[in-house]
Amino acid sequence: MHEYGIAEEVARAIIRYSEEHGGAHPRTAWVGLGALSGLDPESLEEAYPIAAKGTAVEDVRLVVRIERAECRCRGCGATLALEGPVDLLLCEQCGSADFECPPHARGTWLTRVELEEGPTNR
Ligand SMILES: [Zn+2]
Repeated sequence: MHEYGIAEEVARAIIRYSEEHGGAHPRTAWVGLGALSGLDPESLEEAYPIAAKGTAVEDVRLVVRIERAECRCRGCGATLALEGPVDLLLCEQCGSADFECPPHARGTWLTRVELEEGPTNR
């Protein structure tokens, strides 16, 4: 399933982060999720322990949040703010489904990692 592939990528990104910070063990990782990624935060949080099982980061607590994104309608120029998971974009003004969205609206990325000796990313 889609969310397991994403969760595996997140686990790899956390491992990389840990290696770049002297191998300190991560405790909590915050993940930004695009509103158009097709996932909701809960399904990614649930997929993570399964996807990360057997790796050095399987016990990391994952906190996933939808990141706000603003898309622009190519039909009439109206902007639409996305604040939660969206399956289908439709312009309320003109009915167009043709939107220009920032790349992060479809992405998944690590926003912060807390390592065992304390937060390092302030
Ligand atoms: Zn429009």
